[in-house]
Amino acid sequence: MNDSYLNFVNSPLGARLARSLGLPKPEVLRRYREDAPEYDGLVAVGAGTAPQLLDALADVVASTGFTSVAHESAGLWVPLANRHGLMTGRFEPAERGSSARVAALVFDASGIDDSVRLDALYQFFHDTLRSLGKCGRIVVLGRTPETCDDPRSHTAQRALEGLTRSLGKEARRGITSNLIYVAPHAAHRLEGTLRFFLSPRSAYVSGQVVRIEADPTRKDDATPASSDWTQPLAGRRALVTGAARGIGAAIANVLAAQGAHVIGIDIPSAHDALASTMRPLGGTALTFDIAAPDAPAQIAAALDENGVDIVVHNAGITKDKTIAKMSEAAWHSVIDINLGAQERIDDALLAAGTLRDGGRIVCVSSISGIAGNLGQTNYAASKAGVIGRVQSMAPRLRERRITINAVAPGFIETQMTAKIPLAIREAGRRMNSMSQGGQPVDVAQTIAWLAQPASASVTGQVVRVCGQSLIGA
Ligand code: NAD
Repeated sequence: MNDSYLNFVNSPLGARLARSLGLPKPEVLRRYREDAPEYDGLVAVGAGTAPQLLDALADVVASTGFTSVAHESAGLWVPLANRHGLMTGRFEPAERGSSARVAALVFDASGIDDSVRLDALYQFFHDTLRSLGKCGRIVVLGRTPETCDDPRSHTAQRALEGLTRSLGKEARRGITSNLIYVAPHAAHRLEGTLRFFLSPRSAYVSGQVVRIEADPTRKDDATPASSDWTQPLAGRRALVTGAARGIGAAIANVLAAQGAHVIGIDIPSAHDALASTMRPLGGTALTFDIAAPDAPAQIAAALDENGVDIVVHNAGITKDKTIAKMSEAAWHSVIDINLGAQERIDDALLAAGTLRDGGRIVCVSSISGIAGNLGQTNYAASKAGVIGRVQSMAPRLRERRITINAVAPGFIETQMTAKIPLAIREAGRRMNSMSQGGQPVDVAQTIAWLAQPASASVTGQVVRVCGQSLIGA
């Protein structure tokens, strides 16, 4: 769907009008394009006391093509950074005449063990934020608070959440701000996630906190490094439900672009749309109503002995009415398609070993499942249930090295949201740090990151793709 306001205020006349009337001007977000460099420009790096993630950071910077510069107030750790080969220059704040626009600000706060040492964050972001270019990236790296033995460390690390989320709200201009907590001994598992949050692929993901955990089931704890970051899903088979249109079609496209063979499922009446989505991808189209009692067995049979590596539960419906006016059928079908079908399909694929060990499950939830929504008791219950499923299944699947995560989209421009009355639709679009709705591809890219081999250490989590929506924040 088209956001005509965004298009208008980004035209020369619209921009002038918006400026004179003081209207918000949402930025045209920079999204991933095959023909443009994914990582380009300067990264200003800062760190607090005793940073623990500089090695991992240096590896990512070296492999992406970014140029890194050290923030000048960081005198204490710059020699350390130089030893890691991280620094190629020094950061000059914009007001001191540096014309260089910065593409990303990354702060390693993993060693901060007391609130008195949070000042280093103030110093860094106070000096650098104005130099960050449009659609820039802010990433704060911390240590998972629950792994800190000492209350002071735990407290200081927890403080990073408030800082990171506020930076997203202050920065605007299409800038995202996210926090990655890394467990002890898991620094070498950071790369895939850090790459995602520095990339244009995460254009509509802001204000999120992701945890990288160490894998207690594997002594060597080695995440397979990706040999090709543009085709990380090469050789994988991915099942996507609701793939005929909207977010599901975008997921199929992005997974296929990253090398996966995609098996798309949709209802029989969407046969033609599903076929036209899957044909150019060389994928397989299967028509099933996922809520039918025999669907799980039929899907498992259709996947045959080749099995599947990635399952994306995307199919979903809405049947909105306040609960007093809602029919029992509307209640039941939403819970059954959005939640019950996911449970039954996973049970069948896991029991038969059709979803292979080391696999990935990604479930599509919604910010309605986090915040609740008027007229959506059925939908919000189903989507909150999806979050509960992810949290309860993750520890159970650890032994088989299967991860399960949820993405919770905010307002995404699809046929589902086109049905919303205009005034409510406009409010949904603007009430976030990006002042606009997301695109299906934004959800798809987030799912593709969670589906990658390098995301083995991200499980049981909910990542919102909502432009840092104020709803349920
Ligand atoms: P959509 O209506 O455009 O597409 C949903 C697809 O699922 C359709 O192709 C539909 O035929 C298919 N489907 C529905 N019931 C099915 C069934 N029983 N069996 C097989 N396929 C079935 O919706 P969308 O906007 O692309 O949403 C995709 C997912 O994202 C849904 O789970 C939705 O709840 C979620 N979501 C969307 C938004 C948004 O703003 N669009 C926000 C939050 C969450």
